[in-house]
Amino acid sequence: MSKELTHDEIVEIENTRPHVVILGAGATIATVPNGDKNGIPCSVMHGFIQNIGLESILQNVKLDTQSENIEDIYTELYERGEECKEVRLQLEDAIFSYFSKLQLPDEITIYDKLVLALTRKDIIATFNWEPLLIQAYNRASRITKNLPKLTFLHGNVAAGYCEQCNHFGALQRGKCDNCGTPYHKSPLLYPVKHKDYNSNSFIKQEWINVSCYLCRAKMVTIFGYSAPKSDVEATQLLKEAFEKYLPAQRFNHIDIIERPGFNHNELSNTWQEFIHDSNCTYKIHDSFYGSYLAKFPRRTVECLYKRKMMGWWGESDIKLKEHESWREVETNLLPLFYEEELGKKFLEVNPTTYTI
Ligand SMILES: [Zn+2]
Repeated sequence: MSKELTHDEIVEIENTRPHVVILGAGATIATVPNGDKNGIPCSVMHGFIQNIGLESILQNVKLDTQSENIEDIYTELYERGEECKEVRLQLEDAIFSYFSKLQLPDEITIYDKLVLALTRKDIIATFNWEPLLIQAYNRASRITKNLPKLTFLHGNVAAGYCEQCNHFGALQRGKCDNCGTPYHKSPLLYPVKHKDYNSNSFIKQEWINVSCYLCRAKMVTIFGYSAPKSDVEATQLLKEAFEKYLPAQRFNHIDIIERPGFNHNELSNTWQEFIHDSNCTYKIHDSFYGSYLAKFPRRTVECLYKRKMMGWWGESDIKLKEHESWREVETNLLPLFYEEELGKKFLEVNPTTYTI
């Protein structure tokens, strides 16, 4: 006969459930609104072709689409097949090298704070190709090793993968940590109407990663990703992961971070479906700083549980704020790092530092 769980055991299980963060292009724009370290624009959508100086590649093709959206342009080149294949491959190369050059500014950014706001039980899944999140991860790893997993749902210019054993890591490391085989560049999943997420073992594994975490997640944050109607397969995969468990076991809260002035009626049907699950609450924020990630860094799930199940309405003393320096953020988070390293021993000596 199975033994009933004690209150402490239930709390332990709930508090170790993952926080899943899903990033779209809007998150990168919020991170580097004025371009990268060298002022290079990082936006991929409207006006992208001008931004990356690709008029010359497209000058020999007469496009039917009037759109300046890379998704529409790429889709047309793809659908016209052999006729446009060479131009399409040139465009792919140019996109890859353009994104490879992007660098985070020296000062702390939202991506740095996002990575530092989570711990190893959590995951950040991004649809973005640019290398900024990996750079943020590398900077955060100088402060703590207790960091979230990263997964790249459309591939990433800074990610490498091993064809021998399927391990992956930063492309700049050169070879696989596991077997020493040189890394392959991650493929980029280009914007066509019907994407095949199984076409490449790297991309397939990235989707398995996010699905595993999503099934067990307590909390999900969607940052600058609108689940476009054109990406049917992505929304289907997210829904499948959500529906795998009974409603009572699904995630309890969605934080949505969108640009200021975002109209709540614009919320995509995909998120509406999650939100209408009776077990799930949601909140739309117009900035990263209003979300659980900034208000309860590294303790988001514990705090959510305390609020939902234990009637707690307190605030954390430790928050991530705008206009803070690296030193300030590091100093503020220090008690949490100690607590993670030393566990209960630290709390016995410093009972007041456990702020949530
Ligand atoms: Zn390997």
